[in-house]
Amino acid sequence: MNALAATSRNFRKAARILGLDSKIENSLLIPFREIKVECTIPKDDGTLVSYIGFRVQHDNARGPMKGGIRYHPEVDPDEVNALAQLMTWKTAVADIPYGGAKGGIGCNPKDLSKSELERLTRVFTQKIHDLIGVNTDVPAPDMGTNAQTMAWILDEYSKFHGHSPAVVTGKPIDLGGSLGREAATGRGVVYATEALLAEHGKAIKGLTFAIQGFGKRWFMGCEADTRKRHKDALENWPISMVQRQCPQTSCSPHECDVLIPCALGGVLNRENAGDVKAKFIIEAANHPTDPEADEIFSKKGIVVLPDIYANSGGVTVSYFEWVQNIQGFMWEEEKVNRELKRYMTNAFHNIKGMCKSHDCDLRMGAFTLGVNRVARATTLRGWEA
Ligand code: GLU
Repeated sequence: MNALAATSRNFRKAARILGLDSKIENSLLIPFREIKVECTIPKDDGTLVSYIGFRVQHDNARGPMKGGIRYHPEVDPDEVNALAQLMTWKTAVADIPYGGAKGGIGCNPKDLSKSELERLTRVFTQKIHDLIGVNTDVPAPDMGTNAQTMAWILDEYSKFHGHSPAVVTGKPIDLGGSLGREAATGRGVVYATEALLAEHGKAIKGLTFAIQGFGKRWFMGCEADTRKRHKDALENWPISMVQRQCPQTSCSPHECDVLIPCALGGVLNRENAGDVKAKFIIEAANHPTDPEADEIFSKKGIVVLPDIYANSGGVTVSYFEWVQNIQGFMWEEEKVNRELKRYMTNAFHNIKGMCKSHDCDLRMGAFTLGVNRVARATTLRGWEA
């Protein structure tokens, strides 16, 4: 199922559980603003090449819109739309004062030199600089982008608006980035996994894990491109045994206790869901599970920890970075990690509370929690023009 159809279906299901007014429901689904820009750059050999860049700003009822910018060949408007919507629910589940957005450029960053990537990022920033900002929309890294990409956006944005470090998060530390941001998504997944397993009377130690892909620097301090460093990082990770690495492109079933998809969306679907033998699935990737696969997992009693909670550690530490920039005061890494754990643990208990009140699974627990918070903020702001 297409990512947007799948995300919207989960949203509508949550809206029904909450008994949301249909007018609010429809207005929450439609994005606030969709931006599509042409980005033409000279390649290193002098030829001109054009790319299409997107920024979908989904909702701002709870605060500035927030979300990554992705450089990937599969970036398309529907996918960016779905990811922007997921960011709205994710920031609400994490209880950080943001809305949701997502951007992307349809390109393969591996085919571009560093200077071509810099030109592309600067042209994209020139096209959207009026529509992003510290209090309107704050980009961050996502697939195919990193701290360097954020440094170029910050530099280009500052030419128009003056030095504004809080306009992007996931920046290099030297430019106002936060300690602990690079590892935050992976660390958040560990905290989320611990919270879920504790609920089932289990712990990470002693269980077997299958991990598909590595996400962005998935393990603390581990570069995402060298196998050896992955191996070292895995040995240092507090998991007793990593049974097998699945290939990046597919998420084939494995005999393990916990399956963690960390790469692209839609990898668990009706073709392979029936064969999954894990007892727990932790969605470190965004929308890795199709709704059809979700139904199969539910029948098989497999517990799925949903993306809008499981991978929210990245955006949560982005929030800490933005707060530090606004305060003009840098936190110690120990404080960043401690606060991250507190946010992840609180969110888990709030999700469980919704599961109990509405007799639903963790995905609907997370969706109802997020959607309800956004609906409340929207109603409080009112509708008068
Ligand atoms: N791209 C990350 C995500 O999907 C982080 C977004 C952010 O930090 O704003 O959650």
